[in-house]
Amino acid sequence: MTKRTPVTSARLCLFALAAAFAFSQGGSAVKKDYPIRPVDFTKVQITDTFWAPKMKTNRIVTIPFAMKKNEETGRVDNFRKAAGLMKGAYQGKRYNDTDVYKVIEGASYSLLLHPNPTLKKELDDLIKLIGAAQEPDGYLYTARTVDPKNPAPGAGPERWYYLRGSHELYNSGHMFEAAVAHYLATGEKSFLEIAVKNADMLVRTFGPDKRRDIPGHQEVEIGLAKLYRVTGNAKYVELAKFFLDQRGLPHEGHLYPGDSPFALYNQTEYMQDHKPVLEQDEAVGHAVRAMYMYAGMADVAALGGYPEYVKAIDRLWENVVGKKMYLTGGVGSRGIVEGFGENYELPNSAYAETCAAIGNALWNQRLFLLHGDAKYIDVLERVMYNGLISGVSLDGMLFFYQNPLESVGGYLRSPWFEVACCPPNVTRFLPSVPGYVYGVTEDTLYVNLFASSTAKIGVGGKKDVEVIQVTRYPWDGSVKIGINPVRVADFTLAVRIPGWARNEPVPNGLYRFADKNDQAVAIRLNNKLVTPPIEKGYALIKRTWRTGDIVSLSIPMPIRRVVADERVKDDAGMAALQRGPIVFCAEGVDNGGEALDIVLPDDAKLQSFFRPDLVGGVEIIRGQAASVVKSKDGKNELRKRAFYAVPYFAWANRGDGEMTVWFPRTEAAVRPRKGRGKVDPVL
Ligand SMILES: [Zn+2]
Repeated sequence: MTKRTPVTSARLCLFALAAAFAFSQGGSAVKKDYPIRPVDFTKVQITDTFWAPKMKTNRIVTIPFAMKKNEETGRVDNFRKAAGLMKGAYQGKRYNDTDVYKVIEGASYSLLLHPNPTLKKELDDLIKLIGAAQEPDGYLYTARTVDPKNPAPGAGPERWYYLRGSHELYNSGHMFEAAVAHYLATGEKSFLEIAVKNADMLVRTFGPDKRRDIPGHQEVEIGLAKLYRVTGNAKYVELAKFFLDQRGLPHEGHLYPGDSPFALYNQTEYMQDHKPVLEQDEAVGHAVRAMYMYAGMADVAALGGYPEYVKAIDRLWENVVGKKMYLTGGVGSRGIVEGFGENYELPNSAYAETCAAIGNALWNQRLFLLHGDAKYIDVLERVMYNGLISGVSLDGMLFFYQNPLESVGGYLRSPWFEVACCPPNVTRFLPSVPGYVYGVTEDTLYVNLFASSTAKIGVGGKKDVEVIQVTRYPWDGSVKIGINPVRVADFTLAVRIPGWARNEPVPNGLYRFADKNDQAVAIRLNNKLVTPPIEKGYALIKRTWRTGDIVSLSIPMPIRRVVADERVKDDAGMAALQRGPIVFCAEGVDNGGEALDIVLPDDAKLQSFFRPDLVGGVEIIRGQAASVVKSKDGKNELRKRAFYAVPYFAWANRGDGEMTVWFPRTEAAVRPRKGRGKVDPVL
């Protein structure tokens, strides 16, 4: 008999964790979870000319760039100082640890798809440093540990004192997400052990009969849910639920000092603490906080089986999508609080933080996994193709924190920010894009996004199916989906028919098409036209699938004019252009230096064509519009002019200038524009 050595035990333990890991690959180590499972991004290889180059730039340029920035700006040094390896004061904001965590998460995802020993070694070194900065009981927050007597501004004089402003738990949440990603990428527990030690300390500290307080910036809930999935420790989900349930109740701890800029706003609304989460029905406050909270509520609802949470986030979704979302999928219109305004308050100088767009994507993906309704993917797709990827330049080295729909010029991407939440958030989102393409249940395979790709998917646990997509999406609506099961298999293929192809740009009517389009989507099965039932936005094709079966979609992609609900004052009398999932904008560089004076009459003839040489290869729109000019008698009149529009996500890659998504439809709708310019404070 072999004597069991500590190494063997450790291995057994790793195997147990690996079994838990099996969940995300389609296993069942966790009892309850979303009724639909996402198909992990490691199972889907995107080979298209849209996402694949962006993911490659992220891997080759942005991740190393962000790691370098973390070093240059003292973010990594803070861990060295906390570990006692370096002298000096804490540098930067109290939540700067998270920028290191987020890049580790993105780099780990990247490692899963592209093994890279040099990058892995860099991560190993960072993780050693993080471990060394952790206090013996598991507390990990360099903003305090570097010099507990003089913690970073806003960290509070002692642990948890300003929990609503300190970001101690926000830091933990991002650390948990990064640790889980690193574990899944490498099978190594080095970072996971640090995370578990921290989470166990939180479990010991907070709870109904312990400390009652809330994290001022939600995120720990999502992190705890992920940690639960790989460890099986249900206490983590209970703790996430506890933090959510404490909102709207009296807490320990302290609010921000009165001179904080947040004093301008209702602090409890700012952090969604104004009423219990189950009673919240309008999205208020800081948009990233809200999005992370709603995503966390979805996780807790799915993992713990709490239908009342689902009801609450369904209500909030109706509000956001129906009254508070930009055409680009961005959310958060007020700069001063980086947050939501009143219903229909959607100025085009929009704050629309990149992180809030990412949060909106995370939340809508989770709602799809709960409900199996394509309307959530409609929102997800709108965010992904527009207001999210606008956050990073084509070269992967410049970033937007705010994503306005209108600029008077002077508004440019930056290489980094003092508050640098957005760039590293992009680094972790992009590698995960393939994970949004499919979803699966025991008997249904959902096709949510369209991109040339190859995937290996287990439908119903056993039926291995190769799925190949061939398409030029988002530039062309022709999509071929090859279904190749290893063995003949019965299941339903649920193919999303995008809302915009069913004359519904957004699910709740906040935006509608002003023009008519009677071209219908055509679906063919092995070259024969079929008319499968459409339910919840999916064409359901149920049959016995055999290798070589091909489903073809022809989704018409005419240029469409979009108008907003009349209660959106800022878009009154205006139209925007959309083609397929892509929202367009006019930039000064293409329009004689000016974009804000363009008038786009409803009868202006427009055509689109592909420009392989422009901003990485995009479809552009060309036509004849008009400008307002003063006539001799001082009256405004319209004069014809050439007009060019490019995809919104690609703006600000060719120098400075005006930009607009919305165009007055008539001379009467022309008014002074207040687009975002140089003055651009970041909280
Ligand atoms: Zn951000």
